[in-house]
Formats: sequence, structure tokens, C-alpha cells
Amino acid sequence: MAKAKTPVSLSELGEFGLIEKLTKDISLKHKTSLKGVGDDAAVIDCGETCRVITTDMLTEGIHFNLMYVPLKHLGYKAVMVNLSDVYAMNAIPKQITVSISVSSKFSVEAIEELYAGIHLACETYDVDLIGGDTVSSLTGLTISVTAIGEARKEDVKYRSGAQLNDLICVSGDLGAAYLGLQILEREKDIYEKDNSIQPHLDGYDYILERQLKPEARKDIIEWFKAEGIKVNALIDISDGLSSELVHICKASDKGCQIYPEKIPINQSATDVAKELELEDLVAALHGGEDYELLFTVPISEYDKVNNFDGVSIIGNITDSGKAVLVTAEGEGVELVAQGWDGF
Ligand code: ADP
Ligand code: MG
Repeated sequence: MAKAKTPVSLSELGEFGLIEKLTKDISLKHKTSLKGVGDDAAVIDCGETCRVITTDMLTEGIHFNLMYVPLKHLGYKAVMVNLSDVYAMNAIPKQITVSISVSSKFSVEAIEELYAGIHLACETYDVDLIGGDTVSSLTGLTISVTAIGEARKEDVKYRSGAQLNDLICVSGDLGAAYLGLQILEREKDIYEKDNSIQPHLDGYDYILERQLKPEARKDIIEWFKAEGIKVNALIDISDGLSSELVHICKASDKGCQIYPEKIPINQSATDVAKELELEDLVAALHGGEDYELLFTVPISEYDKVNNFDGVSIIGNITDSGKAVLVTAEGEGVELVAQGWDGF
């Protein structure tokens, strides 16, 4: 008798492996489905313009811990992570839907607090909340947001557009959100051991704000438009710089080299990394949740990009097929894509 096949565990496959397995045989039936799985958002042909659509879900105990995440901030962040994916297509978000599954441990006031954050995000980013779903759960809270954005067809940017010798650019700074999470976790652990000790969060404002109240980079998309920047490939940084570089390289069938000393890291992130005996570079490469934009431009755009304060050039696209970090000693270390959740 043939032996029964041992079931494959989810952790063996990992987040990206699982998505690939589930979606590899999909063939799109409609001409209007311009892009399906595989970018920050799907793209649908709507004649003159197109719509981009993206969904991201946050689950209690996996993506957030309500011991230290205020519900209003959580609502705001649940919208931000989705708007970030819309901007990552060079599109303007217009609508969202919000679905929640919620257990009886939550009061009406608590859910209203969550929605105060969602409404604030909609006001700030000029987005309409147009629907959703509300169901009960056995334990905990899950929030799933779908964002819909608009762009002219020729303006949509994909992960796959990187060209040989392109400059690789990143907005803002990296690693701070991860370090903010480490401080929140440290204080939670101390409090759980001794309830009389109040969390010590003074002086950590920047990294805590980066973790608890991220902002999607609408301003960078506006800058692209205002300056006429020729962007070839675009992605947002949700899983860490390293993963997103690998995604761009894989989708574009290219490689890249980046230089650690060029990676933008805020001084307060560097200070906290030291305090926690962590490497700030590791937080920047693998930490995730930065919600910055990573993009490539032809060398002809060098002056425009180099003269803009909020953007750093961190490397260039190669034809090696590998994403490589070039150390100060000139050695190349290959970067890998790590799923943020890691089952
Ligand atoms: P991002 O980090 O930009 O939100 P993800 O890594 O979550 O992107 O997803 C990568 C791609 O896989 C996206 O195109 C997304 O729509 C698709 N995807 C993720 N999970 C599923 C799923 N369960 N079924 C179908 N497509 C999925
Ligand atoms: Mg994304």
C-alpha cells in the first residue's frame, strides 16, 4: 500500500511560497484584468483610466497587540498599509472598504475608537469609506481593508519595470518601525512581570510614531508628478528593504547591488538599536513596516533625485539576477526575501 503523503507545514513553505503555490495556475479571463496577483495591487482597465485594488489584513496577536496599540492608531494604520500599496502603483487612492471580525470582549465604544482612526485616515488622505462587512469572531479582532485607487494607464508603475543600470532609490528612512516595536515589546514584558512598573516610553517618540502611526507616502507620488520623474519600477516597503529588493529584481529579471552606508537610518533608530544591542542595518534591511517607497529611475534622473531631501540613492540595478549588499570591504552578501509573518 502506498504511504500517505506527509502534509506540508505552512512554516516550511513560508508566506511567499504559499502565495505562489496558491496562485501559480491562475490565468486571467478578462481583458480588463491588466494585472492580477504579483504586484502591490491588481490593475483593472477602465477605459481612459484604470483602477488599482489591494487588500491587507491585520490580525490581533499576529500584527498587533492591544496591550500597547491604541485602537484609534490601529484603525489609522490599517488604512495606511493599504494606501501605501496604492501609492506603490503610482495611483491615487479614492475609496476603501473595511471588514472587521470582532469578539464579545470588545465594547461598542472600543470599536468606535477603531473607526475614529479609520475616519481620520480617510479625511487626511481624501478617501471615501464605501462599505465593508462586520462579523463576530471567537477570539480577538481582525481588520481587513481593501483600497481602490485611480491612475492613467500609462502612469501605473510595476515592480517589473527596473532597467539595467537604474538607480535604486528609497524615500524617508528605514528600520525605525521595527525598533519601535522592540521597545513596546520590551516594556510589555517588564509590565507583565511586575504590574507596578509603568512603561518607560519617554524619549522614544520618533520610533514609536513610526510603528504606531505610519504615514503612506502620498507626497512622493506627488513629487514624481510635479517634477516629471521617470520612474521605472516601484514598490512599497512593508516586509523590509531586503524582501522588496528581491521582489523588484525577480519581477524585472534583473539583479541589484546596494551599499549599506547609503541606506537611510534615523539617528534615533541607530541610538535605540545600540541600546537594544541590535544592528540598525539589520532592522533597516529586514525589520519591515516602514511603508516607505522603493523605486528605480534611469541615471538621467540623477540630479533631480539627488537634489531632493527626502530620497536616498542606495544602489543600482545589475544583470546578475541577484540582490546583493556590497560591504565596505567590497564583499557581496546576497539578500533574501523574508515574509514578515513567517508563519
Ligand atoms: P504586499 O506586501 O504588497 O501587500 P503581499 O506580499 O501581501 O503584497 O502579496 C503579494 C501578491 O500576492 C499580491 O499581488 C497579492 O494580491 C497576492 N496575494 C496575497 N495573498 C493572496 C491570496 N491568499 N490569494 C490570492 N492572491 C494573494
Ligand atoms: Mg506592497
